[in-house]
Amino acid sequence: MDIRITKSQELFKKSQQVLVGGVNSPVRAFGSVGGTPRFVRSGKGATLYDEDGNAYLDFVGSWGPLILGHAHPKVTEAISKAAQAGSSFGAPTQKELSLANRVIDAFPSIEKIRFVNSGTEAAQSSIRLARGYTGRDRIVKFEGCYHGHSDSLLVKAGSGGATFGVPTSLGIPKALAKQTTVLPFNDAIAVKNLFRGSGKKIAAVIIEPIAANMGVILPEKAFLRMIKQCCNDNGALLIFDEIITGFRVAFGGAQELYQIKPDLTCLGKIVGGGLPMGAYGGAAEIMDKVSPLGGVYQAGTLSGNPLAVAAGLETLTIISQKQTYPKLYAKTKYFCDALQNILRKAGKKYPLHWTTGMFTLFFNHEKVTDFKSARRSDTKAFSDYFHAMLNEGVYLPPSQFEANFISLSHTKKNLDFALNKMEGYFKR
Ligand code: PMP
Repeated sequence: MDIRITKSQELFKKSQQVLVGGVNSPVRAFGSVGGTPRFVRSGKGATLYDEDGNAYLDFVGSWGPLILGHAHPKVTEAISKAAQAGSSFGAPTQKELSLANRVIDAFPSIEKIRFVNSGTEAAQSSIRLARGYTGRDRIVKFEGCYHGHSDSLLVKAGSGGATFGVPTSLGIPKALAKQTTVLPFNDAIAVKNLFRGSGKKIAAVIIEPIAANMGVILPEKAFLRMIKQCCNDNGALLIFDEIITGFRVAFGGAQELYQIKPDLTCLGKIVGGGLPMGAYGGAAEIMDKVSPLGGVYQAGTLSGNPLAVAAGLETLTIISQKQTYPKLYAKTKYFCDALQNILRKAGKKYPLHWTTGMFTLFFNHEKVTDFKSARRSDTKAFSDYFHAMLNEGVYLPPSQFEANFISLSHTKKNLDFALNKMEGYFKR
């Protein structure tokens, strides 16, 4: 039986008249899966409640920030206390110093950091800094990786770009797009060849060290090592966009897992504890090129916002406990092993990619290693599965090309609930 969603339907209709596509970020509109996006009233732990009063087990987690689940009491309290002390000063605060020190402790590659308001800003600022520092213009990115919506980076991008089939946005000056070279993910030879020809023109290589915006795709170690080597040999900067992976796959992000030290790191999502925040950081020698010390200008009225800093600090305090990542790994492994079993029994050979706290099931009969292979997934089959799950109270990202997130608030009972629905689906 279909659940009642009349309020969401009504609100979506009205929203479409005044908000573009009825939403404030494209993938929320359910464009690629069809149907009505749920209008969310509240969330608690791993559960979302819509305006019709339906409950859903949430595997979106606000697209990554909510490693502790919705409305964690300690984070909520920290935000509320901060709000009572004033919501914005446009002046330095002691708490942002504490947050900076926490991030620097977690990421040995970061000596100095700048807080901004979104992941987009972090990535955009990091490439401006790389260009300013090296005096070069060219940027290298990988097909299907998403680094926010700034002009230089919205070329062959993942996330919404992959979902809606417009990976390169309109409105990006050709002269600028020409400065962005796009290579296939996991292709070490392509990296080597590019650097052999024009290595000395490259300001930076930016990469999601674990790709999550074309679905989760793990990097081959040799691929990451090749990028690091080529950057080192040619004076180009290596930028790890750890906006999803930072504080998720390990406290110190993918760079901790793969033991590769980037020159610059972009953070977002978890670092702001569910409030708008991003950050970029690296060696002091590079970061000191940023204004007011250096000539690379970057500023923000709300940067280091006290509410976001409070939420981030409290979140990092909680997740810095020793058992956090073994626990999150165990939850993800439990879920993905069981799902793999379900798929095997149903005779489905779909690749299921996962790492601590996130996974993607590709409706694909081949190995998925890059954007080209990811794009061969059966998005119609995905949509059918997505809607079946939603109707059963399991809220998945509404696109094949996104990561599903597991939080510390997902209990075994929660995971078994979802597994049970998935088993039913694949049996049918
Ligand atoms: N980089 C990565 C890896 C991301 O996943 C995202 C957002 N999903 C961004 C950058 C952009 O962050 P924001 O949406 O906060 O601007």
